[in-house]
Amino acid sequence: MLFTDLQLIKPILDALTQEGYEKPTPIQSQAIPHLLEGKDLLGTAQTGTGKTAAFAIPILQNLYHKNTKNHQIKALILTPTRELAIQIEESFKAYGRHLPLKTLVIFGGVKQGAQEQALKKGVDILVATPGRLLDFINQGIISLKNLEIFVLDEADRMLDMGFVHDVKRVVKLLPPKRQTLFFSATFPKEIQELANSMLHNPVKVEV
Ligand code: AMP
Repeated sequence: MLFTDLQLIKPILDALTQEGYEKPTPIQSQAIPHLLEGKDLLGTAQTGTGKTAAFAIPILQNLYHKNTKNHQIKALILTPTRELAIQIEESFKAYGRHLPLKTLVIFGGVKQGAQEQALKKGVDILVATPGRLLDFINQGIISLKNLEIFVLDEADRMLDMGFVHDVKRVVKLLPPKRQTLFFSATFPKEIQELANSMLHNPVKVEV
């Protein structure tokens, strides 16, 4: 299979060529068609499988097709660490380089001023770690009322790092009518329950 078989728009295909990607990885060819249709997804995938592009490419394409100019947060990717958050933001910027969508990353452990300024300029796609996201929400700086797509990345690590309550708090603030993508490398009982509570008829992808 080739990226050109996945019904992707030219600005994204051009960006993938610029990245040097020749063909989709297994998780990409399995997940992208379903995600373009707006389905929920339960993914068993480790980092290194091409997981980030598997969700970033369809998110970019779907938001591009909505053609809204308002730069309010429409996609949220929640991930446990600053390093992962930065990598994910860089991926969105790379694959979306020819699209008029704005991506921002926020994480804790640094002063919030620069992140706050960037948020005020408008953001379509927000990549965040849970604590800093909740800080901004509690201060009224971030609203998630226009959210359409939610990605929970590395759910099992969220659990290990003690972020599960923060994640549940964030989920309660999301519009119920949304697309949800849930990724975890392992599925202990608590993770299964969390996934069941968040997903509607998910497509299951395992790599
Ligand atoms: P990830 O699993 O999302 O952390 O991606 C692992 C690495 O694979 C990253 O460095 C990506 O840039 C790279 N990558 C993702 N998809 C492809 C692809 N289709 N072809 C070549 N490299 C890719």
